[in-house]
Amino acid sequence: MASTEVTIRGAGIFGLSCAWACLQRGARVTIVDPHGVGAGSSGGVVGALAPHVPENWNDKKAFQLDSLLMAEEFWTEVQEVSGLSPGYARSGRLQPLADDRAVELARGREATAAELWQGRASWQVIAATGTPWEPVSPTGYLVHDTLTARMHPRQACEALAAACRARGALIVEEAPDAGAVIWATGAAGLEEMSEMAGRQIGVPVKGQAAVLRHNAGQVPQIFAGGVHVVPHADGTVAIGSTSEREFEGLGTDAQLDEVIAAARAAVPVLQGAEVIERWSGLRPRARSRAPMLGGWPDRPGHFIANGGFKIGFGMGPKVGQVMADLVLEGHDAIPEGFRAEALF
Ligand SMILES: Cc1cc2nc3c(=O)[nH]c(=O)nc-3n(C[C@H](O)[C@H](O)[C@H](O)COP(=O)(O)OP(=O)(O)OC[C@H]3O[C@@H](n4cnc5c(N)ncnc54)[C@H](O)[C@@H]3O)c2cc1C
Repeated sequence: MASTEVTIRGAGIFGLSCAWACLQRGARVTIVDPHGVGAGSSGGVVGALAPHVPENWNDKKAFQLDSLLMAEEFWTEVQEVSGLSPGYARSGRLQPLADDRAVELARGREATAAELWQGRASWQVIAATGTPWEPVSPTGYLVHDTLTARMHPRQACEALAAACRARGALIVEEAPDAGAVIWATGAAGLEEMSEMAGRQIGVPVKGQAAVLRHNAGQVPQIFAGGVHVVPHADGTVAIGSTSEREFEGLGTDAQLDEVIAAARAAVPVLQGAEVIERWSGLRPRARSRAPMLGGWPDRPGHFIANGGFKIGFGMGPKVGQVMADLVLEGHDAIPEGFRAEALF
């Protein structure tokens, strides 16, 4: 092992996933976060683990596919060790098809998905059946994919933190560096790094989301009208999100009302559902728009796991794996486009 002791700064999904992977390999781990578990964008409500479109394959899509395929085992083990539910289910996704061109394009993707998803999941054009849990579809056709999953972000962070503790990790508000240090400090970390480097490494992108009371049962999530509609196991449906480069502080506003209205228009069964929570967070978006992983340039023994942006939960399992490879074994399996040093 290159290191047997690891300090992880940041208890969001990236920090906790790195901690879990390091613990699985026998490292001693301390997680430090002055604000507590899931205090950043990981403490949210949506939890769509949705794949990229199966075409124009690249490193990012391949990495995300690996991570999505790892997720079921990852979250099952977390649940077993912690005794807490992360709310994970590979329940699939429905997307309406707006016109004939969209149907043709989607049919073409049936074949590319079969090949690129290695037969592990399917992407199919199906006829809408008119059941209440369906999006409005002008063509009468939908895409149904079986790779998409959901989990509950806030509950998943609590479960993963409890599993880390059960495997011996300390989670504390402050502690000195001991051993290798992984900085998984989200949007605040990107701003700090930008200041230190004297150039923009990344920016926060605000997102607002809502939770509706509606027990949809075991049904696929829906992506329609530009919004994610994610039914959770606790009898709620999460809806997200806005994407704001310009904003003043956290909190929700009329932009979230528009997202809720879009969801109700796309999925009419939600028309009367009560809004029980409004939430906002700051996504960490690296300049590359990709995850930002690897050694911190000119800071030996310090590493970065950041840039989860809109798909941090989907990327978590694989991010943990490649960071543990690098930090503990000195084995670098980070895709070229994700390299932290390229952004400095
Ligand atoms: C509205 C919204 C909806 C989203 N929906 C989805 C979705 O459906 N699916 C999906 O995959 N992703 C989604 N995301 C994105 C996802 O939430 C992020 O990609 C992910 O949470 C990033 O995780 P992180 O651990 O890098 O950052 P964070 O969760 O922000 O964690 C960073 C942590 O670092 C701590 N910290 C900061 N500075 C320090 C320091 N100096 N020392 C120690 N700790 C520090 C903070 O307190 C925080 O707890 C959504 C985001 C938003 C805002």
